[in-house]
Formats: sequence, structure tokens, C-alpha cells
Amino acid sequence: MGRTVVVLGGGISGLAASYHLSRAPNPPKVVVVESSQRVGGWIHSVRGPDGAIFELGPRGIRPAGALGARTLLMVSELGLDSEVLPVRGDHPAAQNRFLYVGGALHVLPTGLRGLFRPSPPFTKPLFWAGLRELTKPRGKEPDETVHSFAQRRLGSEVASIAMDSLCRGVFAGDSRELSVRSCFPSLFQAEQTHRSVLLGLLLGAGQSPQPDSALIRQARAERWSQWSLRGGLEMLPQALATHLTNRGVCILRGQPVRGLSLQPEGRWKVSLGDSSLEADHVISAVPASVLSQLLPAEAALLARALCAIPAVSVAVVNLQYHGASLPVQGFGHLVPSSEDPGVLGIVYDSVAFPEQDGSPPGLRVTVMLGGSWLQMQEAGGQGLSEQLFQQQAENAVATQLGLKESPSHCLVHLHKNCIPQYTLGHWKKLESAAQFLAAHRLPLTLAGASYDGVAVNDCIESGRQAAARALGTEPDR
Ligand SMILES: Cc1cc2nc3c(=O)[nH]c(=O)nc-3n(C[C@H](O)[C@H](O)[C@H](O)COP(=O)(O)OP(=O)(O)OC[C@H]3O[C@@H](n4cnc5c(N)ncnc54)[C@H](O)[C@@H]3O)c2cc1C
Repeated sequence: MGRTVVVLGGGISGLAASYHLSRAPNPPKVVVVESSQRVGGWIHSVRGPDGAIFELGPRGIRPAGALGARTLLMVSELGLDSEVLPVRGDHPAAQNRFLYVGGALHVLPTGLRGLFRPSPPFTKPLFWAGLRELTKPRGKEPDETVHSFAQRRLGSEVASIAMDSLCRGVFAGDSRELSVRSCFPSLFQAEQTHRSVLLGLLLGAGQSPQPDSALIRQARAERWSQWSLRGGLEMLPQALATHLTNRGVCILRGQPVRGLSLQPEGRWKVSLGDSSLEADHVISAVPASVLSQLLPAEAALLARALCAIPAVSVAVVNLQYHGASLPVQGFGHLVPSSEDPGVLGIVYDSVAFPEQDGSPPGLRVTVMLGGSWLQMQEAGGQGLSEQLFQQQAENAVATQLGLKESPSHCLVHLHKNCIPQYTLGHWKKLESAAQFLAAHRLPLTLAGASYDGVAVNDCIESGRQAAARALGTEPDR
């Protein structure tokens, strides 16, 4: 009888793992178990009454690097090339990113010339922060918060405005708690290897081998900064699910995994409430905190390491306006915590992807709410109302973008614990989990946003690597 691999979770990580398992020369039997009725996890696109697309989760995928190229290769293999909406390098959404500081929008400097010019909200040209960086000695700690790292190397303005905002934009997190080693491994490694982050990034870590396809070449030639799909990013998990089903993978929807137990012969029993599955290997692509609740008592040490990986919530408010226009053209803006503890940033969806504006076209923006403000609201224990989030978002759009009219369409979603936080010492949690799995030879592999990167590309890569491990082959990097 062939081997069976059960994949827990039908988010992008679990689907990517199943995709690579199903394409192996001797594929095992693959069963994906997903608790909700739809696959895709946080990737969720909703169509408005006028045909406009509203992204409740991610809205753009970066094509850069080996991981970006591998995702594009998968897109082509799924037959989605004609659905891709690129943001080309010369487009305002690729060129302009803003910070909202001191009650005004400031465009972030780009290119070499931008570094020598005064660029408010920074008091001096960023060239000086770069010069300072080149002279600083290498850090000695095995890990450091993003804030402390940036302050030590680039000065307090870059730390408290730029890196604070970046951590809010990518992780909805606090730069004073997040780990530079785990959140920005290329910066950490550059300092370790070359003493200076700038030198390290300039000299580069060497190009890793990249796949090649017509779509990848087009993305490089046109210098895409990101891409989406015509019907929204959810087309990607949907196409994966169809492809997997055609290849004989079984996707169980609406089936929450209730627990895992080890059988005497070393196989897993995966409990689904009133039924169960047997597996030779399990790939977990559910959040670390969820897996920690499913593990058997023999794996208590592993469960302890996993439940120490926290996650934060984000309230996503999609707004649509008819007859309104933005004061600037760009990808969007980020807001540092010193400016507003609750508004992480606003994405100008219509600038990057006007093809998704509906008919007649309406201006779409998305306000991301989170940070210490949302944590206080959640800790307050009162029911968090949609009206509260909508009001907060409309205030932000009025103050920060001058859009004072009422939106013609609004969607409000509170995504609880949606972004894992790689806090200081995250690497030690991963190391103890890996040591436990190796020492006990558990047929279990971890994938997903909880471990080595939250971006969609990172999640797809984690699935690819988990599949290779489950097949007993080492993934090429
Ligand atoms: C608001 C927001 C905006 C984002 N924007 C971007 C962006 O623009 N670009 C980008 O690259 N990334 C972005 N990200 C990050 C990225 O979307 C996520 O990190 C990624 O989608 C996570 O995928 P995953 O498969 O690891 O986890 P999930 O999407 O969480 O999938 C896990 C799956 O497991 C299922 N599950 C949970 N418990 C069980 C159980 N007991 N049994 C069975 N199934 C279970 C869940 O239902 C879910 O489907 C964003 C994330 C959010 C939340």
C-alpha cells in the first residue's frame, strides 16, 4: 500500500505543500483537511455589487527573488498567466510609497539621488544615516529587536519612523518587540557577514538559482513591483484546489482537525470529530498555536515551543467611493505608531489595480487597523462593533487623504490572530521545535506563516520545503 500524507489546513501553505507532493515522481496519497468551507485561509477576495474586487487579506504578491519567481512559475503551471495583473516598474504604485507623519503625507525617497536630498519627515538626507551605518561595528547579540538594531545602525529617526512603520505594514507588529533576526533575516545576515548592512546588501549574498519561464522573464523585463489576479488573489488558492482535485488529492472542507495521536506502529491518527484518518506523515499548515492544541501528550515539549509563538489581530476596512479622487498616486501610506496607535496604514487599491474597480469605476482604498489601539480594544472585553472600525477607518481616510464624503460601499472584518509575531528569540522556539522533531523522529513537518516568513511567497516556499521533507528529499534552495 502507498504512503498517505495528511495536510492540516487548506490555506496557501497547505495547498502549496499538497501541490508539490502531488507532482512528485511517486506521489503519496494526499488528503488536505480544512476546517472552513472554503480554501485559501487569509487569502479572501470578495466581489461587490458593481463587480469591484475587495481583498480582505493580501492584495499583492512580490515577484522579486527566487521565491517570487517560483510563485510565478506555479501561476503559469496553473494556467493563470492571462489573469495576472502586474504593477510595472514605471507605474506610480511601484514608484511612490508614502509615510503619514506630522499630519502630512511624505513620499519615501527612491534611487541614489533621493538619498542626498532632504526628505521630510527625516530631518537630514538619508545619506547621513547610511554613512553612519557604514562606520558602526558588528552587533554581538544572537538576536535583537528591530528597533534596537535600526537605532544602533541607522539612528533613532530611521528606527522610530521608517522601521516602526515597516513593522506595522508587514507584521502589524511593534518594532520594539519583533526580532530582526527572524523578521528581516537579510538585514541580520548582512551585518553578520559583512559587518555593515549596506555593504552586505550591496555585495549581496550571491544569486540563488531561479526558475525560468516566459512570465518570469516578463516580470523582470518590466520590473514588476507586485502582481494580483483579475478576479482577486483568491483565484490562486481556487486554481490550486481545482488542480489538486484533478490530480487525485482529496480536499476535505468543513472538517476541523480535533487532535493527533501516534499509533504503536508510528503512524498518525488524525481525529476529525466523528471520524478519523490514518497517515504515515502529517504536514501541519495550521497556525502554530492551533497545532500546539492538537498534539498528543508525548509531544508536550513541542507544543510548549509552538504555543509561545503569538499572533496579532488586524481589522480590515475596505472602502469604495464614487466621484472622489486621491490627493496623491502611489501604493499607499504607512503610519508610524507615534502618529496614530491604531491606523497601520492605508492601501490605495485603485492605483495599483484599476482593473478591479468595478463598473462604473469607484475608488477603492483599504484601511488596516491594529497595533496597541486594537490590542487595548480587544483586552477591554466589550464586543468590538463593525461601526467602531468603520468610524475609525472613515476618520483616518478623511484626515489623512481628505476623503470626507461617505463611502458608497464598505466592508469591515476583524481578523483575529491573523499575523504571527516573530518576537525577540523566535529563532530559539524554531530550534527547539526542530530538535524535538529530529530527536523523536516524528513524521511531522511544519509549514505556514508561523515560522519563516508571513508573505504569501514565504508561505508557498514553506509548503514546497515541507513537501520535500515529507517525501524524504532535501528541497533545493
Ligand atoms: C490582512 C492581511 C493582509 C496581508 N497582506 C499581504 C500582502 O499584501 N502580501 C503578502 O505577501 N502577504 C500578506 N499577508 C500575509 C499572508 O496572506 C498570510 O501570511 C498567508 O496567507 C498565511 O497562509 P497560511 O496558509 O500559512 O495560513 P492561513 O491562511 O491561516 O491558513 C491556515 C488554514 O488552516 C485552517 N485551520 C485552522 N485550524 C484548523 C483545524 N483545526 N483543522 C483544519 N484546518 C484548520 C484555517 O481555516 C486556514 O484555512 C496578509 C495577511 C493578512 C491577514
